[in-house]
Amino acid sequence: MARYTGPVCRLCRREGLKLYLKGDKCFTDKCPVAKRNYAPGQHGQSRKKVTEYGLQLREKQKVKRFYGINESQMARYFDIADKMQGITGENLLHLLETRLDNAVYRLGFAQSRPEARQLVTHGHFIVNGHKTDIPSFKITQGDVIQVKEKSRNSEKIKSIIENHNGTQVSWVNVDLEALKGTIVAEPTRDDIDIPVEEHLIVELYSK
Ligand code: SF4
Repeated sequence: MARYTGPVCRLCRREGLKLYLKGDKCFTDKCPVAKRNYAPGQHGQSRKKVTEYGLQLREKQKVKRFYGINESQMARYFDIADKMQGITGENLLHLLETRLDNAVYRLGFAQSRPEARQLVTHGHFIVNGHKTDIPSFKITQGDVIQVKEKSRNSEKIKSIIENHNGTQVSWVNVDLEALKGTIVAEPTRDDIDIPVEEHLIVELYSK
């Protein structure tokens, strides 16, 4: 299934919450969710009765949009999560949180997940010494993610580093001098700040 390429703020308005897809703009009063917190489109402000299926679907869409993945990737992650030991919903979130593009975002080396995805695809990072340009690459505790030597003079990277505000999560550690981040722990459910009821996604896929 094709990746969504339309206006991303529309996705936030559809979910009724900030998905933080636009970097700095998300923290200003220009954010459309702050200005118009109702679904886009002609019927956006009408009240509809939400079915059980509707609730489950919304939770799945929310997670897909947070992490910028498509339907088939989501289904694949669910299959893997379902076969793992432990709680399937938490496994699913853990798998998504440990994607390389998300880790780059969490390290503060990108201002949004879509930007992190683009920087990874453009080959700006090395993982454990190897060039890695696959956004879905799975990182684990002990991995070291570093900005590639050649990319250090890129205006984009320089501006991100200049505006770096530290990281908001405890499972990564950043060394700004070396432009390097280390995964110091596996993220737990408490580390994942996405307001989602993942058990509803499990119920949806278990039908
Ligand atoms: Fe979402 Fe950011 Fe756009 Fe606000 S500015 S609607 S948080 S992408």
